[in-house]
Amino acid sequence: MNPISYWREKERYYRLLGSHCNQCKRDFYPPVYVCRECGSKDIVDREMPQEGTILTYTILYEAMEGFDGYEPLVLAIIKLDNNVRVLAQIADTKGEDIKIGDRVRMIFRKIREEGKEGTIYYGYKFSKQG
Ligand SMILES: [Zn+2]
Repeated sequence: MNPISYWREKERYYRLLGSHCNQCKRDFYPPVYVCRECGSKDIVDREMPQEGTILTYTILYEAMEGFDGYEPLVLAIIKLDNNVRVLAQIADTKGEDIKIGDRVRMIFRKIREEGKEGTIYYGYKFSKQG
């Protein structure tokens, strides 16, 4: 994604803005224009809940390009409290204290830096609730 379109979409990332179908009342993230459940186009923006539960997770020990210095990386599928599932990094852990069913809360963090200009990307991660 280029930095300009990223900047334009920043609000969407920051607020975890998804979609809500007025017909069948389901929520979606990422946002949809047509309901994946009932096909309705009666869709409105809806901010997703910022808390959820870990359904499953994996720990990546290999450094990924652009993520140097952050490994091991804990990636989890999180079921938000409206039943929407998101894939996100669990921050502030090496994974040893993470288990399925843990409650997590969304936080807004620097994701990575890119290129010589050091373009910084921000996005959501999740953190275990203390
Ligand atoms: Zn629907």
